[in-house]
Amino acid sequence: MNYKTFVNQIKLEYTKNMNQKERIKKIIEALDAQYGTDFICYLEHKNALELLIATILSAQCTDARVNTVTPTLFAKYKNAKDFANADLAELEDIIHPLGFYHAKAVNIIGCCKKLDDKFGGEVPSSIEDLTSLPGVGRKTANVIRGNIYHEPSIVVDTHVGRISRKLGITKKEDPKDVEFDLMKKIPKDHWILWNIHLITLGRSICKAPKPKCGECFLREYCPTGQNACKNGEYHI
Ligand code: SF4
Repeated sequence: MNYKTFVNQIKLEYTKNMNQKERIKKIIEALDAQYGTDFICYLEHKNALELLIATILSAQCTDARVNTVTPTLFAKYKNAKDFANADLAELEDIIHPLGFYHAKAVNIIGCCKKLDDKFGGEVPSSIEDLTSLPGVGRKTANVIRGNIYHEPSIVVDTHVGRISRKLGITKKEDPKDVEFDLMKKIPKDHWILWNIHLITLGRSICKAPKPKCGECFLREYCPTGQNACKNGEYHI
Protein backbone atom coordinates (compact mmCIF):
# COMPACT_ATOMS: atom_id res chain seq x y z
CA MET A 1 0.00 0.00 0.00
CA ASN A 2 1.50 3.35 -0.97
CA TYR A 3 1.49 6.38 1.32
CA LYS A 4 -1.29 8.21 -0.54
CA THR A 5 -3.65 5.23 -0.33
CA PHE A 6 -2.80 4.82 3.35
CA VAL A 7 -3.56 8.47 4.14
CA ASN A 8 -6.81 8.36 2.21
CA GLN A 9 -7.94 5.28 4.10
CA ILE A 10 -7.22 6.92 7.44
CA LYS A 11 -9.28 9.94 6.38
CA LEU A 12 -12.10 7.70 5.19
CA GLU A 13 -12.26 5.94 8.56
CA TYR A 14 -12.20 9.33 10.29
CA THR A 15 -15.06 10.65 8.19
CA LYS A 16 -17.14 7.50 8.69
CA ASN A 17 -16.92 7.99 12.43
CA MET A 18 -18.16 11.57 12.35
CA ASN A 19 -21.88 12.06 12.61
CA GLN A 20 -23.54 14.30 10.06
CA LYS A 21 -23.81 17.32 12.37
CA GLU A 22 -20.06 17.27 13.08
CA ARG A 23 -19.29 16.76 9.41
CA ILE A 24 -21.45 19.73 8.38
CA LYS A 25 -19.73 21.87 11.02
CA LYS A 26 -16.32 20.93 9.59
CA ILE A 27 -17.51 21.59 6.02
CA ILE A 28 -18.82 25.04 6.97
CA GLU A 29 -15.60 25.90 8.81
CA ALA A 30 -13.56 24.84 5.77
CA LEU A 31 -15.79 26.85 3.39
CA ASP A 32 -15.54 29.96 5.60
CA ALA A 33 -11.77 29.61 5.80
CA GLN A 34 -11.43 29.16 2.05
CA TYR A 35 -13.94 31.70 0.74
CA GLY A 36 -14.56 34.12 3.63
CA THR A 37 -17.94 35.21 4.94
CA ASP A 38 -18.76 38.20 2.73
CA PHE A 39 -21.99 38.07 0.77
CA ILE A 40 -21.07 37.98 -2.92
CA CYS A 41 -23.61 38.25 -5.70
CA TYR A 42 -22.42 37.27 -9.16
CA LEU A 43 -25.30 39.09 -10.88
CA GLU A 44 -24.42 42.77 -11.25
CA HIS A 45 -27.12 45.07 -9.87
CA LYS A 46 -27.59 48.40 -8.13
CA ASN A 47 -30.95 47.82 -6.46
CA ALA A 48 -33.63 45.22 -5.69
CA LEU A 49 -35.47 45.63 -8.99
CA GLU A 50 -32.30 45.15 -11.04
CA LEU A 51 -31.43 41.99 -9.10
CA LEU A 52 -34.97 40.68 -9.57
CA ILE A 53 -34.83 41.21 -13.34
CA ALA A 54 -31.29 39.81 -13.59
CA THR A 55 -32.31 36.70 -11.66
CA ILE A 56 -35.32 36.11 -13.93
CA LEU A 57 -32.93 36.43 -16.88
CA SER A 58 -30.45 33.98 -15.36
CA ALA A 59 -32.74 30.96 -15.82
CA GLN A 60 -30.93 28.45 -18.06
CA CYS A 61 -28.14 30.99 -18.56
CA THR A 62 -24.86 31.90 -16.85
CA ASP A 63 -24.56 34.94 -14.61
CA ALA A 64 -21.62 36.18 -16.71
CA ARG A 65 -23.80 36.19 -19.81
CA VAL A 66 -26.62 38.01 -18.04
CA ASN A 67 -24.09 40.65 -16.97
CA THR A 68 -23.28 41.38 -20.61
CA VAL A 69 -26.89 42.38 -21.33
CA THR A 70 -28.13 44.10 -18.18
CA PRO A 71 -26.18 47.39 -18.54
CA THR A 72 -28.06 48.12 -21.79
CA LEU A 73 -31.32 46.89 -20.30
CA PHE A 74 -31.11 48.94 -17.11
CA ALA A 75 -30.06 52.05 -19.00
CA LYS A 76 -33.29 51.85 -21.03
CA TYR A 77 -35.72 50.69 -18.30
CA LYS A 78 -35.10 52.40 -14.96
CA ASN A 79 -38.04 51.34 -12.79
CA ALA A 80 -40.94 48.90 -12.56
CA LYS A 81 -43.27 51.19 -14.54
CA ASP A 82 -40.74 51.39 -17.41
CA PHE A 83 -40.57 47.60 -17.60
CA ALA A 84 -44.36 47.27 -17.20
CA ASN A 85 -44.88 49.56 -20.22
CA ALA A 86 -42.08 48.04 -22.30
CA ASP A 87 -42.73 47.06 -25.88
CA LEU A 88 -42.48 43.25 -25.93
CA ALA A 89 -40.52 43.10 -29.22
CA GLU A 90 -38.00 45.74 -28.07
CA LEU A 91 -37.44 43.97 -24.76
CA GLU A 92 -37.06 40.62 -26.53
CA ASP A 93 -34.50 42.13 -28.85
CA ILE A 94 -32.28 43.25 -25.96
CA ILE A 95 -32.45 39.97 -24.02
CA HIS A 96 -32.36 37.73 -27.10
CA PRO A 97 -28.75 36.48 -26.48
CA LEU A 98 -29.79 34.97 -23.14
CA GLY A 99 -32.17 32.34 -24.54
CA PHE A 100 -35.86 31.76 -23.74
CA TYR A 101 -36.18 35.45 -24.50
CA HIS A 102 -39.91 35.42 -25.27
CA ALA A 103 -40.93 33.73 -22.01
CA LYS A 104 -38.48 35.88 -20.03
CA ALA A 105 -39.75 39.11 -21.62
CA VAL A 106 -43.39 38.17 -20.95
CA ASN A 107 -42.53 37.33 -17.33
CA ILE A 108 -40.57 40.57 -16.79
CA ILE A 109 -43.41 42.72 -18.12
CA GLY A 110 -46.02 40.74 -16.12
CA CYS A 111 -43.90 40.84 -12.98
CA CYS A 112 -43.34 44.60 -13.21
CA LYS A 113 -47.03 45.27 -13.95
CA LYS A 114 -47.88 43.53 -10.69
CA LEU A 115 -45.05 45.33 -8.85
CA ASP A 116 -46.39 48.64 -10.11
CA ASP A 117 -50.08 47.84 -9.45
CA LYS A 118 -49.83 46.05 -6.14
CA PHE A 119 -46.54 46.98 -4.47
CA GLY A 120 -46.07 50.64 -5.47
CA GLY A 121 -43.18 49.71 -7.76
CA GLU A 122 -41.12 48.31 -4.85
CA VAL A 123 -39.80 44.76 -4.64
CA PRO A 124 -41.42 43.05 -1.63
CA SER A 125 -39.46 40.97 0.90
CA SER A 126 -41.79 38.13 1.92
CA ILE A 127 -41.58 34.80 0.16
CA GLU A 128 -45.37 34.83 -0.36
CA ASP A 129 -45.41 38.26 -2.04
CA LEU A 130 -42.33 37.52 -4.14
CA THR A 131 -43.60 34.17 -5.42
CA SER A 132 -46.94 35.79 -6.30
CA LEU A 133 -45.09 37.70 -9.06
CA PRO A 134 -45.11 36.20 -12.58
CA GLY A 135 -41.84 34.40 -13.37
CA VAL A 136 -40.70 34.40 -9.73
CA GLY A 137 -40.21 31.00 -8.07
CA ARG A 138 -38.65 30.13 -4.73
CA LYS A 139 -35.12 30.33 -6.11
CA THR A 140 -35.53 33.89 -7.37
CA ALA A 141 -37.47 34.90 -4.25
CA ASN A 142 -34.69 33.58 -2.00
CA VAL A 143 -32.02 35.42 -4.04
CA ILE A 144 -33.87 38.67 -3.29
CA ARG A 145 -34.51 37.84 0.36
CA GLY A 146 -30.88 36.91 0.99
CA ASN A 147 -29.03 39.51 -1.08
CA ILE A 148 -31.31 42.51 -0.65
CA TYR A 149 -33.04 42.02 2.69
CA HIS A 150 -30.45 39.73 4.33
CA GLU A 151 -33.28 37.44 5.44
CA PRO A 152 -31.96 33.92 6.13
CA SER A 153 -32.80 31.88 3.03
CA ILE A 154 -31.24 29.06 1.04
CA VAL A 155 -31.12 29.50 -2.72
CA VAL A 156 -31.14 26.09 -4.37
CA ASP A 157 -29.67 26.34 -7.83
CA THR A 158 -27.96 23.64 -9.85
CA HIS A 159 -24.68 23.88 -7.88
CA VAL A 160 -26.33 23.82 -4.46
CA GLY A 161 -28.50 20.78 -5.20
CA ARG A 162 -25.71 18.83 -6.90
CA ILE A 163 -22.94 19.53 -4.38
CA SER A 164 -25.17 19.14 -1.31
CA ARG A 165 -25.96 15.63 -2.59
CA LYS A 166 -22.29 14.89 -3.29
CA LEU A 167 -21.45 16.00 0.24
CA GLY A 168 -24.05 13.52 1.54
CA ILE A 169 -26.06 16.27 3.23
CA THR A 170 -29.28 15.60 1.33
CA LYS A 171 -30.66 12.88 -0.87
CA LYS A 172 -33.51 15.03 -2.18
CA GLU A 173 -33.72 15.91 -5.85
CA ASP A 174 -36.56 18.44 -6.10
CA PRO A 175 -35.18 21.96 -5.38
CA LYS A 176 -37.93 22.77 -2.86
CA ASP A 177 -37.31 19.48 -1.00
CA VAL A 178 -33.55 20.20 -1.03
CA GLU A 179 -34.20 23.70 0.37
CA PHE A 180 -36.34 22.41 3.23
CA ASP A 181 -33.91 19.57 3.98
CA LEU A 182 -30.94 21.97 4.07
CA MET A 183 -32.85 24.38 6.33
CA LYS A 184 -33.06 21.56 8.89
CA LYS A 185 -29.34 20.78 8.66
CA ILE A 186 -27.42 23.98 7.92
CA PRO A 187 -27.19 26.54 10.78
CA LYS A 188 -29.39 29.54 10.03
CA ASP A 189 -26.47 31.98 10.13
CA HIS A 190 -25.02 30.13 7.12
CA TRP A 191 -28.13 29.78 4.94
CA ILE A 192 -27.19 32.68 2.66
CA LEU A 193 -23.50 31.74 2.57
CA TRP A 194 -24.28 28.10 1.71
CA ASN A 195 -25.39 29.15 -1.77
CA ILE A 196 -22.54 31.63 -2.26
CA HIS A 197 -19.89 29.14 -1.17
CA LEU A 198 -21.24 26.20 -3.18
CA ILE A 199 -21.52 28.28 -6.34
CA THR A 200 -17.89 29.33 -5.92
CA LEU A 201 -16.85 25.73 -5.27
CA GLY A 202 -18.95 24.44 -8.17
CA ARG A 203 -17.38 26.85 -10.63
CA SER A 204 -13.80 26.11 -9.66
CA ILE A 205 -13.38 22.65 -8.10
CA CYS A 206 -16.57 20.64 -7.78
CA LYS A 207 -17.42 21.00 -11.45
CA ALA A 208 -20.00 18.93 -13.27
CA PRO A 209 -19.47 16.39 -14.69
CA LYS A 210 -15.90 15.92 -13.39
CA PRO A 211 -15.28 17.30 -9.89
CA LYS A 212 -11.61 17.77 -9.03
CA CYS A 213 -11.78 15.79 -5.79
CA GLY A 214 -8.01 15.38 -5.75
CA GLU A 215 -7.51 19.09 -5.07
CA CYS A 216 -10.67 19.73 -3.04
CA PHE A 217 -10.32 21.10 0.49
CA LEU A 218 -13.59 19.35 1.45
CA ARG A 219 -12.49 15.89 0.38
CA GLU A 220 -11.86 14.79 3.95
CA TYR A 221 -15.53 15.34 4.80
CA CYS A 222 -17.11 14.36 1.49
CA PRO A 223 -18.24 10.77 0.90
CA THR A 224 -18.17 11.26 -2.89
CA GLY A 225 -14.62 12.60 -2.77
CA GLN A 226 -13.52 9.84 -0.39
CA ASN A 227 -14.90 7.13 -2.66
CA ALA A 228 -13.35 8.73 -5.73
CA CYS A 229 -9.95 8.81 -4.04
CA LYS A 230 -10.33 5.25 -2.77
CA ASN A 231 -11.06 4.07 -6.29
CA GLY A 232 -8.37 6.25 -7.84
CA GLU A 233 -11.02 8.09 -9.90
CA TYR A 234 -10.49 11.67 -8.83
CA HIS A 235 -9.65 14.35 -11.36
CA ILE A 236 -6.96 16.95 -10.76
S1 SF4 B 1 -14.51 16.14 -2.69
FE1 SF4 B 1 -15.13 16.05 -4.85
S2 SF4 B 1 -17.35 15.66 -4.84
FE2 SF4 B 1 -16.75 16.34 -2.76
S3 SF4 B 1 -17.12 18.55 -2.76
FE3 SF4 B 1 -14.97 18.24 -3.31
S4 SF4 B 1 -14.90 18.17 -5.57
FE4 SF4 B 1 -17.04 17.89 -4.92
